[in-house]
Amino acid sequence: MTLVATQADHEAIPASIFRAYDIRGIAELQLSKDSVRLIGQAIGSEALDQNIATLLIGYDGRLSSPSLSIALIEGIRSSGCNVVSLGLIPTPLLYFATHTTDFDSGVMLTASHNPSNYNGLKVVFHQTSLAENQIQSLRSRIETNRLRTGDGGFAELDIDKLYIEDICRRIKLEQPLKVVVDCGNAVPGKVAPVLLGALGCDVYPIFCEIDGNFPNHHPDPTVPKNLVALAATVLEKKADVGVALDGDGDRVGLITNLGNFVDADRMLMLLVQAIVPNFPNRAVVYDVKCSSKLGTLIAESGALPVMHRSGHSFMKQKMQEANAILGGEFAAHIFIRDDWFGFDDGMYVAARLLKILSESSKTSDELFDQFDTGFSTSEIKIEVAEERKFLLMEQLLELADFPAAKQITLDGLRVEYADGWGLIRASNTSPALLLRFEADTQTRLLEIQNQFKALLRSADKDLEIGF
Ligand SMILES: [Zn+2]
Repeated sequence: MTLVATQADHEAIPASIFRAYDIRGIAELQLSKDSVRLIGQAIGSEALDQNIATLLIGYDGRLSSPSLSIALIEGIRSSGCNVVSLGLIPTPLLYFATHTTDFDSGVMLTASHNPSNYNGLKVVFHQTSLAENQIQSLRSRIETNRLRTGDGGFAELDIDKLYIEDICRRIKLEQPLKVVVDCGNAVPGKVAPVLLGALGCDVYPIFCEIDGNFPNHHPDPTVPKNLVALAATVLEKKADVGVALDGDGDRVGLITNLGNFVDADRMLMLLVQAIVPNFPNRAVVYDVKCSSKLGTLIAESGALPVMHRSGHSFMKQKMQEANAILGGEFAAHIFIRDDWFGFDDGMYVAARLLKILSESSKTSDELFDQFDTGFSTSEIKIEVAEERKFLLMEQLLELADFPAAKQITLDGLRVEYADGWGLIRASNTSPALLLRFEADTQTRLLEIQNQFKALLRSADKDLEIGF
C-alpha cells in the first residue's frame, strides 16, 4: 500500500483513498479522525488559496459521520478557513446551498452507497465538484506540508426547509399521486418523504428511519434486488410509482405501478422527451454505459448527443463545458439544468418524473414501456485487485481487435456495431472491471459478450468471468 508521507505527529494516510472524483475509504482504518482533520486542513488551505473564505459542511447518516464531521470541521478551521455547518443532510442539499447561499463551496462527508463501514469526502469549489488532479493536489499538499494555519469561524445553517420550498415553488403536480418511497435507512429519509408530501403526494415511506447499519438493504437503487420490498409495497398499496434513493440522495431508482424496475436509460429517455423539445440544439450529455437508443432519441428530439466518461464530477464538468440542458449516467446520477442547477439530485429528479407522470393519462408502467432498449445487461462486475485494474484495462486496450466496429476509448473501451455494443472499463470506486452489453437480439447480445470474453481470456486466462 502506498502511503502519503505526513508530518511525524500524524499517522500515514493511504494514497488509494484519493480517487478519481472523491476521497473514499474505510472509516477508522483509512479515514481516521486524525486523517480527516489533516485532509480538512488541506482542503481549507486549498480553498483559501482559491479565494474561498468559507466552506459549507454536511454529513450523511453513517455511524462514523458525526465524529468524522467534527474532525473535518476542526481541520478546516485550523487552516483559517471559516465553516458553515449544514448538519445531517443528503448531498444534493449541500450542492443546493452552494447555489443559493452566499457561499459557493463546500465539503460533503459521505460514502454514498458504499458499505456501512466506509466514509468519504466530496469536495465542491465554486459550484464545481473536484476531480482527478484537483483531488491529487490535496494529497500532495499534505505530503509537502503546504498547510495553512489559522482560526476559522463557525456558524450553522438549516437548509432543509429552503430546499423543499424551492422545489415546491418550481414543481406543481397536475394531480395527486400515491408514492411509496424507500430511503434504505440512509440520510434521504430525513428529506425525501417530507418533500414528496409537500408536493401533494400521498406518501408511504419504507426504511426512512436513518440507521447507519443499513439493516434492510444496501442503499443502492440501481440494483434491482435492493428494490424488492419497494416493488412489493407499490403493488400492495396500489401506488402510482415507487421511488428509491441512494445512500446520500444524489441518485434515484424507480419502480412502476406494476412493480417493474426502471433503469436510468429509460428515466433519461422520459426526461429527454419532456425537456429537449423546449431547448432545441442544446447538448445532452450521457455516459459510456448508457443505451445507444438514448443517443438516438436525443438526436431525434433535436438535441446534440454527447457521450462522456463515467463519474459524476466528469459529467458535471462536461455539462458546463457543453452548456448542456440535461445529462445523466446509467448509474443514475442525473443532472437537470432547465429549471434546476445541473447537479445530481435524486430527490429533484424524482419530483420532475412525478410531474411528467401527473401530466400524463398513462400509468408509470405505460410511460416507461414506450422506450425499447432492446436486449441489455445491467452492469457486470469482474473483481480485480485495486492495484491491477487500470493496468489490466491498458492491456485490454492493446489487445482489442474489433475491425468491424467503432471503438470508443473515452473511458475504457466501448465497441459499437449497428445492432449492439459492449463496454469494459475500470471502476473508479471499487476494485473491479465493469462491463455492459446491449443488442437488438438476444443472439447478437451473446455474440458480443463472447467477443469480450475472448478478449478478457487473451489478457488473463485465469480471470473469473461471471457472464
Ligand atoms: Zn450517491
